[in-house]
Amino acid sequence: MSDELPTEEYEVVVVGGGPAGQTAALYSTRLGHRTALVDRGGGRGAMQEVHNLIGVREETSGNEFLGVGKEQLEEYGCALHRDVIASCSRTDDERFELCGNDATYRTEHVVLATGFNDVRPEPPLPRTGRGLHYCLHCDAHMFVDESVYVMGYSESAAHVAAIMLNFTDEVDLLTRGDDPAWSDETATMLDDHPIDVIHADVTGVQNGEDGWLKAMEFEDGTVREYRGGFAMYGAEYNNGLARELGCEINDDGTVAVDDHGGTAVDGVYAVGDLTPGHNQVPIALADGAKAGISIHFELRDFPRDPEAIDEAGPVRSEEVPGIPDELLEQAVDFHTYDD
Ligand SMILES: Cc1cc2nc3c(=O)[nH]c(=O)nc-3n(C[C@H](O)[C@H](O)[C@H](O)COP(=O)(O)OP(=O)(O)OC[C@H]3O[C@@H](n4cnc5c(N)ncnc54)[C@H](O)[C@@H]3O)c2cc1C
Repeated sequence: MSDELPTEEYEVVVVGGGPAGQTAALYSTRLGHRTALVDRGGGRGAMQEVHNLIGVREETSGNEFLGVGKEQLEEYGCALHRDVIASCSRTDDERFELCGNDATYRTEHVVLATGFNDVRPEPPLPRTGRGLHYCLHCDAHMFVDESVYVMGYSESAAHVAAIMLNFTDEVDLLTRGDDPAWSDETATMLDDHPIDVIHADVTGVQNGEDGWLKAMEFEDGTVREYRGGFAMYGAEYNNGLARELGCEINDDGTVAVDDHGGTAVDGVYAVGDLTPGHNQVPIALADGAKAGISIHFELRDFPRDPEAIDEAGPVRSEEVPGIPDELLEQAVDFHTYDD
């Protein structure tokens, strides 16, 4: 079926248009490489409010932030495709072929920025971003001196409950009837801290007029007041393309990378939440930048190395600059500030 689709040729294709993918695409485009960003939309970057990003106001939503990113990418000449990459492979000429619904994308370098999905617990649940949260480093600050819950039955749920004591003295751990999967040592840790472990399932949610969580109702008839809390049910990594390409996958589902986002497969990079490390926008931005710069080192034409000079001769002035014509035009237009 993909034979009938148009084929698009690029030097770099970034899959995933969250903060990590957008930044990789920005660097790759501005450093002079024909670049496409293929994104299906959504993702963790589409959060309600962006925190921890210096210079960006708290009331900015993830979609606003990413929307400006898309405009910037377009202005610099990056091709934006709203598409899903369903499969990918290496071609005989050592390139990569990525199959989308609308086109086939052929490229020399691939950046995987596909992130992960938080596993959502069963309803009833508070509204996401208004009492139901997934990111401790982003949102713990909202709950200083408030009554909070942590939902889950894993080691990490127990540890997040204890960590929340750094912010407030009212922390409940809600297992919702699931058998705790934490170790004896963790059970002792919970006993040694002022955390109430509640096993009764949640049967209802009460919201205040501001839309924020006010309280939760439990199957034993109790009602407990909370301002908000965190669901800790793990992550589903979008690592299918990385697996298809032969990248090394860590036990937790992240893609193994070097300091610049390089994977075990030449020409394939992985960045952002898909890789190990803190899951934060500033870190995703840095990952994207490092991968974009590293790809530039691999792709740039000059200085031509001595072997290539032996083969092709010295660089002639008509061969420079190395930047493709369409990007050159856009760059020149961009710098014509006198409007
Ligand atoms: C509710 C919530 C609030 C948060 N708040 C903050 C905050 O305030 N501050 C902060 O620093 N961090 C916050 N985070 C964390 C932050 O959102 C992530 O760390 C960041 O978005 C990671 O960026 P990323 O580009 O790696 O992945 P994502 O932003 O998840 O982007 C991945 C993109 O890849 C796309 N994709 C996946 N597979 C394919 C495919 N096959 N083809 C095409 N596209 C594909 C997805 O649709 C998505 O658009 C929050 C997270 C959540 C869940």
